[in-house]
Amino acid sequence: MGHRTSQLRQRIRLWRRTPRQGARSARTGLPLHTPGVWRRWTRAVTPTSAWPWGRQVPPHQHGPERLEQRPPRVETLDWHARYPQEIVLHGPTDRKQLALTFDDGPDDLWTPQVLDVLQQLHVPATFLCVGQRVQRYPEMVRRMVAEGHVVGNHSWSHPNLTQETAADIKSQIERTNAVIRAVAGVQPRWFRPPYGALNDVVIHTVQSLRMKILYWNVDSLDWTGIRTDQVVANVLAHTEPGAIVLFHCAGGAGEHLDHTVAALPILVDTLRQRGYTWVTVPVLTGQPAYL
Ligand SMILES: [Zn+2]
Repeated sequence: MGHRTSQLRQRIRLWRRTPRQGARSARTGLPLHTPGVWRRWTRAVTPTSAWPWGRQVPPHQHGPERLEQRPPRVETLDWHARYPQEIVLHGPTDRKQLALTFDDGPDDLWTPQVLDVLQQLHVPATFLCVGQRVQRYPEMVRRMVAEGHVVGNHSWSHPNLTQETAADIKSQIERTNAVIRAVAGVQPRWFRPPYGALNDVVIHTVQSLRMKILYWNVDSLDWTGIRTDQVVANVLAHTEPGAIVLFHCAGGAGEHLDHTVAALPILVDTLRQRGYTWVTVPVLTGQPAYL
């Protein structure tokens, strides 16, 4: 085990051991590291009336994106240190190229708006799609492929796969690849785990299917209901050459993505002015898009 890996392990052990009981955010006064705080907060700031219930997409089996489901960043770095070939966090850092990735689609509300914006901006992106939503909105996936985007796999029903058996993980991934192949004629090679949740079983299962785990190193937090300027600031503050940026193109009940659609032109233009070009993940990494 390398020195860097053991250092990361030590930091994770410290993180787990330190309960920080009673610690509160200096800014909001809310308790830190309390499950549910983020969810309550995002509910409070998200105008649920904006969600058109009549057009509900198939819900995520285990609810929408939740910050407390996400492993701490240091844990992700540890998984990457252990499986550098299997997990991609970013592209080469010596070229000013960036990749936009969009999770949780397709739907017939936000996905078409995101596709329209990307078309106007001439930006190819990578869409990590949920199988049961592909089944519901196949024309959106065909549109992604026709417009030069890459389609990847984000499981069938968005469970936290670390709580599933190897057989169920395999079925979640294979079913999704099968429906994408059936509707769009491509078989994804890139897999993004729901909530970014990883363990050895998930990683080995993806490996056995000859696929790659697509992570990210810049999180827009677009789904939390923060303002457009906050989404923009989040991304600009963390963008470096080779960055893989996480966005969403569909939500769950109560989530809206107005700010994603509004932030994209600002981000794309600002970073172009700084000399960056936008590419798909396969182009960024020099690896194939499909099996
Ligand atoms: Zn997701």
